[in-house]
Amino acid sequence: MSVLRKIHHLLFPRRCLLCGTVIKAGDRICEGCNESLPFIGGSPCFFCGFSKSDCRCNQRRHFYDAIVAPFYYEGEVAKGIRRLKFSGKAENADYFGEAVSVCIGHFYSELKFDYLTFVPETEDVINERGYNQSRLISESISKRLNVPTKELLYKIFPTKPQRTLSAAERVGNVLGVFEAADEAELKGKRILLIDDIKTTGSTLNECAKSLLIGGADSVFCAVAAISRSRNQDADTTASETASQK
Ligand SMILES: [Zn+2]
Ligand SMILES: [Zn+2]
Repeated sequence: MSVLRKIHHLLFPRRCLLCGTVIKAGDRICEGCNESLPFIGGSPCFFCGFSKSDCRCNQRRHFYDAIVAPFYYEGEVAKGIRRLKFSGKAENADYFGEAVSVCIGHFYSELKFDYLTFVPETEDVINERGYNQSRLISESISKRLNVPTKELLYKIFPTKPQRTLSAAERVGNVLGVFEAADEAELKGKRILLIDDIKTTGSTLNECAKSLLIGGADSVFCAVAAISRSRNQDADTTASETASQK
């Protein structure tokens, strides 16, 4: 390490992307986080994304063909996603992008995707947050897989945060709020749809439906983390994120 870098590290110590503890220069996450990552182990159920041993979905079908994720939305991974979403830690997107890329390489290795796209947000949300974290994750995956990220979905109505609603209400909340790009861009294409968290899957399902109506041939999903609890506060609250800053 150069003297300048050493000084920089002393003045601005590197912190674990997930939990925020100080770590060695060159590391991205701390040892504690690394040892307790909530990986979705074993072979996954492609209907719900859980490991087969945890799956209770009875192979419930969706508009997307399959979903995969590296992590459950738990512990330090949940913290890391909340820091990305609510505390301006945009650099966390690349950590999750890398993890999702490995997962895609593993489980979708036989598939050739024309485009990656992401769950869109309204202008207001993007302006407030500074970015759409799902787009950043998608762009990070694009770099690694050499498949372009393309904006193919638009959120035309604002929605209530899904965390405030029951599973049944979540379906209605996102119904008809997405619009797909022109048919010329979608016709016959196999799309990989990216998001940060899947809870009930209503948002991904509605996005996949819009892409298919728009002319896409098929839609597969990959997300950073899947919540095992339908009532889990996947979007968390402002007070909690404020305390993480
Ligand atoms: Zn950590
Ligand atoms: Zn399942």
